[in-house]
Amino acid sequence: MTDHFEIHERDGAARLGEVRLAEPRTTPALADDFVEDAGSLWPEDRAVPEGSEEHVTLLPHRAFPSGTAEEVEEAFAVPYPDVDYPSGAVVSPTTARDYGADVYALSTAGGIAGHASAFREAIVDVRAAIPADTALYLSGVATPRNAAVLAYAGVDLLDAHRAVVKGTQGKYLTSEGEHFLSDLEELPCACPACRTPREEFTREDCAEHNENALRAELATVRERIRAGRLRDYVEGQARHEPWLTAAFREFDQEWSYLEERTPIYRRSGMAATTDDTLRRVEIQRFAERVTSRYRNRFDNPLVLVPCSATKPYSESQSHEQFHDAIQYRAHLVSMTSPIGVVPQELETTYPAQHYDTAVTGRWTETEIEFVARVLRRYLERNEYPRIVAHLPGDYREIVDRVEPHVDAPIEYTVEDHPTTTDSIANLMRALDGELKYGKRERQHNTLKAIADYQFGEGAGDELFDELSIQSRYPKLRAHDGEGEQLAAMVPQYGTLSLTLAGARRWVESAVPTKRVEIDAFVPHGNVLAPGIVEADETIRTGDEVVVEGPKAFAIGRAAMFGREMAESTRGVAVDVRHVEER
Ligand SMILES: [Zn+2]
Repeated sequence: MTDHFEIHERDGAARLGEVRLAEPRTTPALADDFVEDAGSLWPEDRAVPEGSEEHVTLLPHRAFPSGTAEEVEEAFAVPYPDVDYPSGAVVSPTTARDYGADVYALSTAGGIAGHASAFREAIVDVRAAIPADTALYLSGVATPRNAAVLAYAGVDLLDAHRAVVKGTQGKYLTSEGEHFLSDLEELPCACPACRTPREEFTREDCAEHNENALRAELATVRERIRAGRLRDYVEGQARHEPWLTAAFREFDQEWSYLEERTPIYRRSGMAATTDDTLRRVEIQRFAERVTSRYRNRFDNPLVLVPCSATKPYSESQSHEQFHDAIQYRAHLVSMTSPIGVVPQELETTYPAQHYDTAVTGRWTETEIEFVARVLRRYLERNEYPRIVAHLPGDYREIVDRVEPHVDAPIEYTVEDHPTTTDSIANLMRALDGELKYGKRERQHNTLKAIADYQFGEGAGDELFDELSIQSRYPKLRAHDGEGEQLAAMVPQYGTLSLTLAGARRWVESAVPTKRVEIDAFVPHGNVLAPGIVEADETIRTGDEVVVEGPKAFAIGRAAMFGREMAESTRGVAVDVRHVEER
């Protein structure tokens, strides 16, 4: 049971939480002034402390440093008592489990900071062993430079210990580095401590500045989490120290840990400024779904075009020109780094219209390799009678790598630039004699494509076998043969929201349903975590979920991931859209 910690917002593995004390604290935060250590059991036995609502009491513990033999840890493990005040347990990756505490302090923190793979391994192991809605505390390791990566990995509590010690040693810390005080001609900070004239600035001032800098960095991190943009920040911030760059790349390799915690869509945009962006869960997930769930339903030729800075692409000037030339005689697929390939039906689907990238006309080898791999997998799955590559010269290398693996002939229509009069004329000529598809086909295929992408392979045909569409793109509404509404397209994210009728179809279909089982009550507005009996482990934040219990059948949107719903004792688990009493 976690009564004294609650997560309010999530950004990948990072969370914005609240330590529920007499005076509540927002995390990620420094724990110095609200965590009290009841002491180690190594020197002496200690009674269960009295505790208080003012602070988190770290229960008497035996800490094991990195490298302790497992048998030793097991033999001396502490059976933490169940207490009803805010409490913390000291654990190692070996001894971590649910002790009923609110906070888990990692005893091996000092040994893993600075070692990317050991750090990743310890965080992933401990997080798997403790309940999802408890706070993870790494003591004695935080600096202004590493705090963002620690929070990104899923650490909720840090302290100022290391930063203060460094200050007393004459080391001046900033978010980008560590400087010998004696080397600094100016103090690159405007905090109260740094207003002291340079020649009078002492090591005590330096210690005070270091703590201020750490607090400021954590405020930046919290704001980034609120905005859903910590990853963008970390891609830059981690560059200041090799082990931090290595650490966040380690987490990129740890697909399931980050994927489980990454929402299906976000309100915020995404800055694609480094090759590391290509390994983001959002990017890999889109590429994976487009090449394993999506299926092209048009019989027309394929036209490959470059992406545009304006999103959705169809609203850009270049795409309007392509559209005028194509006139519904071809299926349009945009090629882009960092997304890969974007079929026209998915141009609004997150993150296809949510990223900003630096356009230079020069691709890195990593980008070429990534987009070529996605295009190849896409074309292996989707056959076209003809392929027209209406692409500028810098895309040629990508198509060249894919061409040997494709049966259909590839025709090139661009001279110089895709929007020159000659290029557009070539494109029109290439489609001479091809048949147009109608508006109805276009709308049906769009809704079905989004359903495939969102719910799984074949979902479009399963959910929408008899379909009638009302209203206009992009606010399409799907109705069944009798006119009952099944779903509506959400243009901001390119996703579908189901109605109760749509939810019933989903349950009856062969498409795997994401279910949340609740106790005997009728939810209104939302379902809180304590009311949940069981939740499908495949549920991700933002997913459509069917909520079922003895008294209710409902459809809504997941506000946490599946395991978190099952393990949490506080917080909104599902935002309910429609409910029906049973
Ligand atoms: Zn300062």
